[in-house]
Amino acid sequence: MPTFVNPEKCDGCRAQTRPACMYICPNDLMKLDTDIGQAFNQEPDACWECFACIKMCPQSAIDLRGYADVMPLGATATPLRGTEQIIWAIKFRDGTLKRFRFPIRTTPWGTIDPHGRADTPNEESLRDPSISAEAHYLGVEELPAPAK
Ligand code: SF4
Ligand code: SF4
Repeated sequence: MPTFVNPEKCDGCRAQTRPACMYICPNDLMKLDTDIGQAFNQEPDACWECFACIKMCPQSAIDLRGYADVMPLGATATPLRGTEQIIWAIKFRDGTLKRFRFPIRTTPWGTIDPHGRADTPNEESLRDPSISAEAHYLGVEELPAPAK
């Protein structure tokens, strides 16, 4: 379900040269049209549908085109991002409105400890062929070594 920018809501991130959606898109699809001060998805066919731009947009100006097997024809899906949750408002063509609320965090802001109880990676870790803290997250003492 590729995304598109709603021109009625986009403020171009207040004329920044690299607005939030451009900054976050992993596929470099979002582009700022400097003539009108608004962004657009320059290649929806190449959209990964990761929805990072939707979550990042401070104006909730990015919508998506729903596929027919997910949303009925004529319906719209509008995201509303909060600090703790994202709400998807689905408006059906008969006017029925349904809202679906999903949490976007499992921990309070600023409390994430990226390494948890695992050892903090150091320079020596770069020589280890395993993924950082792989044994820790697999719950084993050590990973099996290839037979020599
Ligand atoms: S992040 Fe939102 S408001 Fe900012 S330029 Fe992109 S679509 Fe517009
Ligand atoms: S959904 Fe993902 S890939 Fe598609 S435009 Fe937004 S950030 Fe880029």
